[in-house]
Amino acid sequence: MDAAEFRRRGKEMVDYVADYLENIEKRPVYPDLEPGYLRSLIPNEAPLEPESYEDIIKDVERVIMPGVTHWHSPYFFAYFPAASSYPAMVADMLCGAIGCIGFSWAASPACTELETVMLDWLGKMLQLPECFIAGTHGRGGGVIQGTASEATLMSLLAARCKAVRRVQAINAKKSESEILSKLVAYTSDQAHSSVERAALIGAVMMRKVPTDNHYAVRKEMLKKMVEEDKAAGLIPFYFCATLGTTPSCAFDHLTELGPLCNEENMWMHIDAAYAGSAFICPEFRPLLNGVEFADSFNFNPHKWLLVNFDCSAMWVKERADIIGHWQIPLGRRFRSLKMWFVFRMYGLKGLQAHIRKQVALAKEFESLVRADKRFEICAEVVLGLVCFRLKGSNELNQELLKRITKSREIHLVPCQLSGRFVLRFAICARSTESHHIQQAWQHITQLTFELLQEASH
Ligand code: PLP
Repeated sequence: MDAAEFRRRGKEMVDYVADYLENIEKRPVYPDLEPGYLRSLIPNEAPLEPESYEDIIKDVERVIMPGVTHWHSPYFFAYFPAASSYPAMVADMLCGAIGCIGFSWAASPACTELETVMLDWLGKMLQLPECFIAGTHGRGGGVIQGTASEATLMSLLAARCKAVRRVQAINAKKSESEILSKLVAYTSDQAHSSVERAALIGAVMMRKVPTDNHYAVRKEMLKKMVEEDKAAGLIPFYFCATLGTTPSCAFDHLTELGPLCNEENMWMHIDAAYAGSAFICPEFRPLLNGVEFADSFNFNPHKWLLVNFDCSAMWVKERADIIGHWQIPLGRRFRSLKMWFVFRMYGLKGLQAHIRKQVALAKEFESLVRADKRFEICAEVVLGLVCFRLKGSNELNQELLKRITKSREIHLVPCQLSGRFVLRFAICARSTESHHIQQAWQHITQLTFELLQEASH
């Protein structure tokens, strides 16, 4: 493909993408396939001779699309959203064209500098304390990670390093391995699995803090565990708080937990992977109160802020704590271009409108559920996630979800809350409107009607 063909094919691809997204709701949201479907559809080996572009494009519809779960369908309500917008997509094309590996300032000054400034812009949108903003007198700053999992791991490794140095400053004879064997990290029993994985990779112990009946960590529970561990000769060094847990979007009590972590010399990291985007709205910003006590904070603009995957924003209070290991890979893509395009084309007001609209849709769905006495709401609806279930057994709810999945008209995933099987309904696609919510609910109630009829016979 030379430049002339690229111009032609590139424009065709833009049309294909726009058609795909404009008509996405006509496609079944979830594939109807068995695992292993793809291998038989393509050759066993790469072609020896070049193939034509036409042949490849034909295979996109034949091989790929049948196996796609359409995350940007307005009928997709599973997991948490994956952000998508046209400004981010065109910026990504430019990122591909520049194709730099921005591992140092000299390797591509614009890549390094735009990232720092975009993290400042975003930090200011969230009203982060000045100490996290690079272009101030503070000693902090932001960096783009690929995922929240990487941000958690980076924070844990930085905290581990700091804890080892602190212990050795008092007792120089203690070996690093001896100290590591005594370090304990903590997180909520509702935390994402990536937090536990960070401790596994960091080779430190991690304890799960039981949550209250709103699925949130409170100070007393953490304090009790920290005291027990200190009495046993262990060294508490890290706590990962969650704002917006994956199962139910619960919020740990930062204003209680933060001072405790500071008193105990424990690094506090905040994982707000999904919920963080909402904090750009003044009405949701109080959920972030207590961030001033944190050593690091992270959320995913690639979940809910219209910046396509991957773009996970992380800030630290002390750059010096993570210098030398800002990230796991050496190479970095020019991801801040996506933020720059999106922030400028939507403006803060446009981004806030997106969040508010999706929260309102979740509230709309919540009202539909509450109005139907066969169902119950299982956790407070704060942002764009509704946890609900049929009153009755776990088996009944499992069967309902099985039928929903099989119908392929809408897509949801479950979670466990207090041992109960719960359906999660997350507002995901940018194109989801009220009529999609109404239709989704109609579909759920129709399947429920059939299920309960059968159960009563
Ligand atoms: N933390 C929370 C609270 C999440 O909900 C998720 C994913 O949904 C993650 C972390 C993992 O995010 P990532 O895929 O960016 O690592």
